[in-house]
Amino acid sequence: MGGLLSAALLAKQGQNCFLAEKLPFFGGRFTSIRHQGFEIPTGAVHMIPHAHKGPLGNLLLQNLNLNLEVHTTENFTSWYWPSRTPIRHRRFWGVLKAFPKMRQRISLVRKLLWGLRGAEQHSESFREFLQARTGDPQIFKFFNAITGFALSLDISQISTASMYRVLKRLHEKGRPGVPVGGCKTVITALVNNIQESPSVLQRNCELKKLEIDGSFIESAVCQNTSTNEEFNICAKQFILNMGHSQVNQVLSNSHLPYRLPSAPIAAGGGFAYRSTTSILESSGIALFPENEYVKGAVEPTITSPNLAPPDEHLFITHQVFHSNNIVRDTRHARDELLATFPQLKEEDELCIHTFHKDWPVNYSRQGEDLSNFSSVIPNLFFVGDSYKGNSGWMMTEGIAYGVKRVIKRILNQNNN
Ligand SMILES: Cc1cc2nc3c(=O)[nH]c(=O)nc-3n(C[C@H](O)[C@H](O)[C@H](O)COP(=O)(O)OP(=O)(O)OC[C@H]3O[C@@H](n4cnc5c(N)ncnc54)[C@H](O)[C@@H]3O)c2cc1C
Repeated sequence: MGGLLSAALLAKQGQNCFLAEKLPFFGGRFTSIRHQGFEIPTGAVHMIPHAHKGPLGNLLLQNLNLNLEVHTTENFTSWYWPSRTPIRHRRFWGVLKAFPKMRQRISLVRKLLWGLRGAEQHSESFREFLQARTGDPQIFKFFNAITGFALSLDISQISTASMYRVLKRLHEKGRPGVPVGGCKTVITALVNNIQESPSVLQRNCELKKLEIDGSFIESAVCQNTSTNEEFNICAKQFILNMGHSQVNQVLSNSHLPYRLPSAPIAAGGGFAYRSTTSILESSGIALFPENEYVKGAVEPTITSPNLAPPDEHLFITHQVFHSNNIVRDTRHARDELLATFPQLKEEDELCIHTFHKDWPVNYSRQGEDLSNFSSVIPNLFFVGDSYKGNSGWMMTEGIAYGVKRVIKRILNQNNN
């Protein structure tokens, strides 16, 4: 997403780009692979976090004017507490309905959300922030479901300042949207858009190293992953869309003396199930605050039925890991899921996803983003989910925000 958005914006400004993708397909963790007639995600669960209203919607639909349909989900969130009917809300403040007791609603607003005002500088974890203000376990579970599903983090892994920014964005920009046809249609639209320009998109093409002259990069050495043939691409500017460890590998191959600082990744997993009836009966995000592993699920086929064969639904979960034993954690997660939704059948499981190491949920945890700009090499830039500008924008919204910053700087450089 980071690379394609950058290339599309540059192409729109009449700049020629060469985009190298090492895999045989474009879209990375924001596309899907067709399996038994279902569009199984490579990462993203077919959602644009703020539909038309965030930086991604703005970039795709306004700046690039792509021919895409994005449908805002019917509900913001549905809250599943055991033995209660799901509580659904369309607007941000409707979230208060998630709590049955008036005392909890008042506590949430007065002590927590109100107390969060001006929390831009608070470096303590969000768990610590809560601990200082409430002992109500349901409130901890409530926030843990939000961070577990949306960010694949425990509330102890996000600072209060970052949580404040995320909540502020959710308040301002509202519900998610599903692109009709899912993530892949967004990628196809971007690829087609770029291909209308003289820019070149190359699959099976791995960036190996950068060649530098003084403090400027002159060319990139790429390798065709099918033939192993190496070739050089010369350019004025270089944008890397990779996690920091892959960037550091490239810098090391290039015998350059600097490295990006390390940042922790966000890991997690998911299941995809088929079902002949809708499990959630509502578009939007379903959250399961009492669950230890499976924090939430979506059913994008409610909005875009063509993501599954006729009369079937695609139900996708997201779960967090509690240990390095991913096989055991995944087994626990499945038991938990089948207990939460007894109507799901094990034989209807389409696949299990695990996102860690070089294919994580996020290369940097929310709020631990690295800079989009190199302090050493003026023509080197970074985009993607390690470089979201600590802006409170989640997932691909943050990527779009980072891309806009980079493209602005590049266009300024080119004009001077
Ligand atoms: C389970 C899960 C659910 C998610 N749900 C959502 C969601 O619903 N909505 C949302 O907005 N976001 C979601 N996200 C987050 C979102 O999918 C990612 O943040 C986003 O897709 C990352 O895009 P990117 O461009 O930064 O990285 P990537 O998609 O990883 O792209 C980087 C590309 O660079 C290529 N590459 C790497 N090294 C090289 C090299 N040396 N040479 C050439 N190419 C190279 C890779 O093959 C890859 O294609 C989810 C993520 C996960 C894992």
